[in-house]
Amino acid sequence: MVQLSRFPRYRLGHFPTPLEPMHRLTAQLRERYSQVPNLWIKRDDCTGLATGGNKTRKLEFLLGAALAEDADLLITQGATQSNHARQTAAAAALCGLDCKLLLERRQVRDEEYEHSGNVLLDGILGAEITERFPAGTDMAAAMERVAEQARAQGKRPYVIPGGGSNPTGALGYVGCAQELDAAEVPVDWIVHGTGSAGTQAGLLAGLHAMGSGARVLGVSVRQPEQHQIGAVHALGARTAELLGCRDTLPREAVHVDDRWVGGGYGVPTESMVDAVRLLARTEGILLDPVYAGKGFAGLLGGIAEGRFGAGEHVVFLHTGGSAALFGYRETFS
Ligand SMILES: *Cc1c(COP(=O)(O)O)cnc(C)c1O
Repeated sequence: MVQLSRFPRYRLGHFPTPLEPMHRLTAQLRERYSQVPNLWIKRDDCTGLATGGNKTRKLEFLLGAALAEDADLLITQGATQSNHARQTAAAAALCGLDCKLLLERRQVRDEEYEHSGNVLLDGILGAEITERFPAGTDMAAAMERVAEQARAQGKRPYVIPGGGSNPTGALGYVGCAQELDAAEVPVDWIVHGTGSAGTQAGLLAGLHAMGSGARVLGVSVRQPEQHQIGAVHALGARTAELLGCRDTLPREAVHVDDRWVGGGYGVPTESMVDAVRLLARTEGILLDPVYAGKGFAGLLGGIAEGRFGAGEHVVFLHTGGSAALFGYRETFS
């Protein structure tokens, strides 16, 4: 039994998100490959919070915790085109809190990357972008300094780690695991892009706690396989503990594929561009260039390799992020 109602939560999104079949995509892939599973899409791009995405689920629990301690300021960090930063800005607006965002230049692109897409939305939502930090900055330490200054000015800051990925945030994906467990189709695999690890960790903790047989494949958008498995497993185990699970999450439950990262975090790849165009042109659904595009490329690669059985039900978890497309005009034109 998983009881999420024990944890403070602030409602930010529309849940449960839809689970939809991808008929046209499945039919098209069956013309090309001999073994294609039944393909579904879980629409976490439709959580509703200022263009939506997976951080909405995490923020419901993080905001619950922040409000329980009477915070009046949210501080978080991310890459320049961070979807997490944008959803945190929206959550702060909705809860009447101030918001400071620390953005790390993990890569240097063009003017649109620096100012359009999520960055434009951060400003509209009323968040303050404190400064732009060079790649490799210790962002956790930088957030602590900003929090210290705020406290000195009488504010009550609540610091949210990058991607909202701690056990409290990961509870949001325990909720998603519950939705998928209650779905009418028996889910064999869940596939998604994995970065700061909270999404996969929460899914795995939830599925483990419920005794579900569904497996999760994280397509890494940044770290090599063993590093990512370690991060997901560590956070998943802590999340399962927070849930009150008696037995520990086995490391073998963590599946990661790191072959779709290409040149690095946020660096476009041909397979990502093809994946974004394919889903747009078969199902009318927009992915993003940094996470869901590479995650979907990983799913397509797995299908080409015959990784999934023809009768299996495979759910692509769409984690959102299409606002970042506007930071990548060059890549798609
Ligand atoms: C943050 C993000 C992810 C990765 O989720 P993690 O919990 O950080 O692993 C995937 N897709 C999108 C669009 C994101 O913004």
